[in-house]
Amino acid sequence: MVSALAGTTISTFLTAKSPEQSLEIVQRRPAREVRIGSVTIGGDHPIAVQSMTTTRTEDVDATLAEIHALEEAGVEIIRVAVPFEKSAEALPILKREMTVPLVADIHFDSRMAILALEAGVDKIRLNPGNISQRKRVERVVEMAKERAVPIRIGVNSGSVEKEFLEKHGSPTPQAMVDSALKHIGILEDMDFHDIVLSLKSTDTLAALRAYRLASERIPYPLHLGITEAGQPPYGQLKTAAGLGGLLLDGIGDTIRVSLTGDSTLEVKAGFDILKATGRRVLDPEVVACPSCGRIEIDLFPLVKEVEEYAKTLGQTPIRITVLGCPVNGPGEAREADIGVAGGRQIGFIYRRGVQVRKCPEAELLSALKEEVERFLEEERAAGAV
Ligand code: SF4
Repeated sequence: MVSALAGTTISTFLTAKSPEQSLEIVQRRPAREVRIGSVTIGGDHPIAVQSMTTTRTEDVDATLAEIHALEEAGVEIIRVAVPFEKSAEALPILKREMTVPLVADIHFDSRMAILALEAGVDKIRLNPGNISQRKRVERVVEMAKERAVPIRIGVNSGSVEKEFLEKHGSPTPQAMVDSALKHIGILEDMDFHDIVLSLKSTDTLAALRAYRLASERIPYPLHLGITEAGQPPYGQLKTAAGLGGLLLDGIGDTIRVSLTGDSTLEVKAGFDILKATGRRVLDPEVVACPSCGRIEIDLFPLVKEVEEYAKTLGQTPIRITVLGCPVNGPGEAREADIGVAGGRQIGFIYRRGVQVRKCPEAELLSALKEEVERFLEEERAAGAV
């Protein structure tokens, strides 16, 4: 299991080596592969985590500072707004100074898309519907095609065209998908297929349904997001509520968590949502019980120490479970790679679903560490690492 360090889907993660109890993870929807600079999305490629800068793009120093902070946080694709010529002029400098692919976010003005393409961006986000003349859109598509730069069609519930609002009465999921299909049609008419699609809404149910509808009809990769999710922690929770079901059902090829405030939190939240849904597990997961009146050991300090220890394991997708009593403890500890179930001032340790140790509470942490090391050694010996 620990072999999948590159971040591919880890289907065994949720099964925790107990086939008789296994929950097969739903296979990813096979979307067309689209290359965004050094990152490819779709197909079996890892679901990429992206973010967007909050600065005025023309303020190069501030934008670069934010880009570098996002890169430090592990972001894989960065988008910047390009509303003016001045912001477009900053793009070559940003591109030169950053390591992850750069996406230019364009609205209304096709000239900005042309400037962004000339600046060498790796993707543009564009709504053909809000560019006034088709021939202008076609010029952008021609240029993108020449440069093999993909285009994300970003439909937002707030900007669905009048014809679809009139047809559906409001920006329903179907109205959003119809709008997307119209835009996709413009690109496909020009034999352009490096398309990514997003269908964002502030309403989690509307977004969820729109993405589900699109996943049945549209072969292109889906960029998932709940737009303007708000401030942390509610913003992360709202996004997780909206995207969790999609990801569990195999839908989604790249995600952005739209938070108000520090954009680096978007990156952490993106990876955590992928981890929680089993879609991309890059580091250890510590599962711990909330404790209750049945608690038999001093759980909270132990969990804290286990979490600190887990951080030292780096990119190892191992699940460690710490439970406080013999009621649910043994059963749930068995489901983990390494599990601890508390008893009366003692603890039981499980490795791969088998009880391997019983020790006094004071020795639980060191015993757990030894079992984790043993587990990793076995994985290495099996060539899984
Ligand atoms: S594992 Fe035991 S102590 Fe922890 S919440 Fe469940 S019942 Fe309570």
